[in-house]
Amino acid sequence: MSSDRRLSLSWVLPCGAFEQISSALQQTAQTGDQTSLVLTEATLRRDRTMAGQGDRFVVVVSHQFSGLLMADPTPNEALHETIHLTFAPESIAAFLSQLHHQSQHRSKLVDRLHQAVQQVQANNPDLQSEFTLRLADLMLTHSPASPTNAVTAALEQQHLLEQRVIERTQELHDALLAAQAANRTKTEFLAAMSHELRTPLTCVIGMAETLLRVMAMKPDTYPLQPQKQQEYLKLIKRSGEHLLELITDILEVSQVEAGKVVLDVKPFSLSQVAHQSLQILQERAHSKGVELALKALEHDSQSLNSTDVEDDAFMADPHRVSQILLNLLSNAIKFTPAGGRVTLRFGSKHNTAIFQVEDTGIGIADNQRSLLFQKFQQLDSSLTRNYEGTGLGLALTKQLVELHNGKIEVNSTVGVGSIFTVWLPAQSVNPSIAHLTDKTASLMPAIAPNLLETEAMKRALPIGERVVLIEDHDETALLICDLLTAADCQVVWMIDGATAMRQIELLRPRLIIANIQLPDLHGDQIIQFLRDHPALQATKVLALMAKVSSKDHTVQGVDDYLIKPVEPYQLLDKVATLVGRE
Ligand code: ADP
Repeated sequence: MSSDRRLSLSWVLPCGAFEQISSALQQTAQTGDQTSLVLTEATLRRDRTMAGQGDRFVVVVSHQFSGLLMADPTPNEALHETIHLTFAPESIAAFLSQLHHQSQHRSKLVDRLHQAVQQVQANNPDLQSEFTLRLADLMLTHSPASPTNAVTAALEQQHLLEQRVIERTQELHDALLAAQAANRTKTEFLAAMSHELRTPLTCVIGMAETLLRVMAMKPDTYPLQPQKQQEYLKLIKRSGEHLLELITDILEVSQVEAGKVVLDVKPFSLSQVAHQSLQILQERAHSKGVELALKALEHDSQSLNSTDVEDDAFMADPHRVSQILLNLLSNAIKFTPAGGRVTLRFGSKHNTAIFQVEDTGIGIADNQRSLLFQKFQQLDSSLTRNYEGTGLGLALTKQLVELHNGKIEVNSTVGVGSIFTVWLPAQSVNPSIAHLTDKTASLMPAIAPNLLETEAMKRALPIGERVVLIEDHDETALLICDLLTAADCQVVWMIDGATAMRQIELLRPRLIIANIQLPDLHGDQIIQFLRDHPALQATKVLALMAKVSSKDHTVQGVDDYLIKPVEPYQLLDKVATLVGRE
């Protein structure tokens, strides 16, 4: 429903009602602001600079409350008239502009009108409720032509407005919290990252410089023994490896988030992956004085080798499974002091692989558990913390587990140790939908996994362009946003046509997907605007329509159109064709 329709009402009422509603409007405006402008057709007739206005009207404009009331005679009804009341800022401003344009000379009133046009804005919800109550009282005592309808309409309007205010407030509150959290995390991350990256980089540069200086000297004046030089080179290598690890983690997380990681599902041996992961970290654990052990889940007491496990063959992405284990094991080693123990247990039950990494380390406090799997979160984020890391390992681990539709849980006691448990369901061979997020998949019940295998889909992904979407229907817009984001596009979604027209020049999109049947604008206007704008000549336009007839001339101005409901592959195919990625 458009905001205009929500904020406008019409009734057939007895003739006296107009004056009463008019005075209720004025009283309400004055409650909020003494300097309100009240204008009627009579005021205009008195001001000789204005052309006469025939029908009766009252327009009230103040900072907090504005409304426009108009009356038309009702045909064959001498005692009744049709009354229109609107609070829609656009409608009031349009009415005032019209009066302003009709002015013949400058006068105080004309100046005031000009100011009023600028001043109109959405009403203060308290004043709006106050007016609605006045209106409801009035309707009840006045016995209008259709009293029940009028009272119901007034109450309905109040209800709608209240609901909208609550919704908007909640949306604003959520957006604010999300923005604050994102900003805080980003700032903390940048501080942590600059520390993390700078430490090994300073070491690499410093050591390399020393070695270069040494090598420029005559061999007999070398201040550094070959053994020392070797130590320096080893340090450079370690720092380089650490930097590589950091950068790889950052890239991995962003790849998974962008939906670009596809699972490479194949059969593999659970015990082999577990053994190999343990072996990779054996040296690190040994040099830290931490004991590493491998056990079967059900046969806890005895050590395992591959033949002990009944269902050892498993179907998933072995590389990603190993990555999950390495992340959990290296954390366990990192956060366990010398003399401690880290145990990897594994097994499978009901077609689900289970891995458990237990350590006797520092543990995790209850109140910090919720932060654990968030990106760039290190529980000790002070610059002087004792443990190296990026705060990305567990976020990535969780993402990889979820790509398998699995789950990860943690149990921990401070000072005693932690147990991370991962459940991974066996995967079917077709992994094609895995690169789309869960949300996308759930929004696309119509997309069978094999649809993503079609030529159109393969050709359409990835597209990688900036796209502006103008659509007021949430579900359609979310589906399109998710599909195009999965296709690597930057999508900017706008709900109303008027805002879009103001911002499109700035955004310079490659493609505009527009619902050209929006309530606030006529499709012709959007298309005309896009076609006439010099900066948007290369921008393609894909129209979204509920239906189209061959005579529909609006379709002629666009590059292509889509009929709703949107078919995912058809959308991607059309987008790919329009942006020239066939
Ligand atoms: P990092 O690279 O900092 O280790 P992770 O995402 O892997 O990043 O872990 C995030 C934080 O969770 C760590 O900084 C640490 O505070 C805590 N953590 C992870 N694993 C353990 C563990 N086994 N024992 C104690 N704390 C842990």
